[in-house]
Amino acid sequence: MSPARLIGYVVVLFVGLSTNAALANSGTVTGCVLYQEQRHECDTTFGTYHSVCGPNGPLRPFKNARVAVENAGGTAGSGVTDANGCFSISWNDIWCFGYPCSETLRVYTEATGKYSVTDPSGFLYSFTKTVALSPATSAGDVSVGSSDQVQVYATANEFWSRIVSKSPRLASEMTSVTINARTSDGSGSALDWNWVRVVDTDGTNRPMTAVAHELGHATTFHAMRKSTNRPPWDCDFSHTWAKVMDCENIASHEAYADFWAVAWGYAKTATSPRFGGSGGTAVEAVVATCTTAGSGWLQEGCIASALWDIYDRRVVGGTDDDPIDQNQTSITVEDFVSAFGGLPYTTPGCDARPDRCVAEDQRNANNHWDFKYGFFCGLDDNGIGGQLIGQVQSIFIQDGISGGGEEPFLPQQGCGIP
Ligand SMILES: [Zn+2]
Repeated sequence: MSPARLIGYVVVLFVGLSTNAALANSGTVTGCVLYQEQRHECDTTFGTYHSVCGPNGPLRPFKNARVAVENAGGTAGSGVTDANGCFSISWNDIWCFGYPCSETLRVYTEATGKYSVTDPSGFLYSFTKTVALSPATSAGDVSVGSSDQVQVYATANEFWSRIVSKSPRLASEMTSVTINARTSDGSGSALDWNWVRVVDTDGTNRPMTAVAHELGHATTFHAMRKSTNRPPWDCDFSHTWAKVMDCENIASHEAYADFWAVAWGYAKTATSPRFGGSGGTAVEAVVATCTTAGSGWLQEGCIASALWDIYDRRVVGGTDDDPIDQNQTSITVEDFVSAFGGLPYTTPGCDARPDRCVAEDQRNANNHWDFKYGFFCGLDDNGIGGQLIGQVQSIFIQDGISGGGEEPFLPQQGCGIP
């Protein structure tokens, strides 16, 4: 065979191979990922976001989750589920030379750019379905079931939708939170602004009082631009809604987390929001000791009630039970982020004296007076803080938190560390 003819054969051979490969190794696969609702702490009163729940709730879309087409050679394509839980993935498998290509669809408990739900060691959970792919394949429904980690994922997704995405600053800065689900520790915790832990079964049983609460800590830290909170070691860390704490710092931070958790569970027009759903505690029915025992500022429930009263706009069925924001929707999630972020991070002597700054860490650090300062000064730009600060004080009095250890903030002191 002459060299010229040999080259001709080689060319023909390559054309044939590349044609087969182009036909046989790529395509598009569509489908929808669903989970089964199992979460408790639901409620049926007006304004709840969580009215139908476990133990055998409806199938719901598994939103914003990363989905990959995988095989022995690695990842052949990936996509993200939309608001309906559906995906469309272009895939390309160089090792498949004829249809159908046998692949694995893998759904990860990860919302890229937002959060990921991992096991206690930090590894992502995932769910798989084997599929035989043609150039265009509908994979149908992919179920991720109803495990506890799936319920954690669902709550986190709603938390981002209802709270984080409503604040431009949170949305741009709260982009990589790791949630360890199913830990075996005694209680949940927020170790820092990007790392929270949720005890096994709490994803199912306590979406508001555990999952959203811990995410609420992370949210407060991001709003304050404070990576974590370090109160004195001898403060009592165990807490409940009505417990009188020994450190305002802890009562306040727990109340801040409670507030975000309630905002996850209810619209601001809700008639009777409860921390923990219908079986929990009425947020606006102030615990008697808030106003009678003279220690409301040491009780997270009293502080959380005040925060909700500042945030809410309860107009259905009558007037609100607080004097603020009756005729406007001006107090938004972003306003709360601005209020928490209204404190300067640090100033000379911040850690050594009970001043108003984010970095302080004494027993009454970051307390409700600091919030009032942040509300006045952090919302100064649009005038809201100055306009409504008198009504914030009225709510502090109504909810029994107008005392406390750190110096009360008075607007005439102005913005800037006194
Ligand atoms: Zn907490």
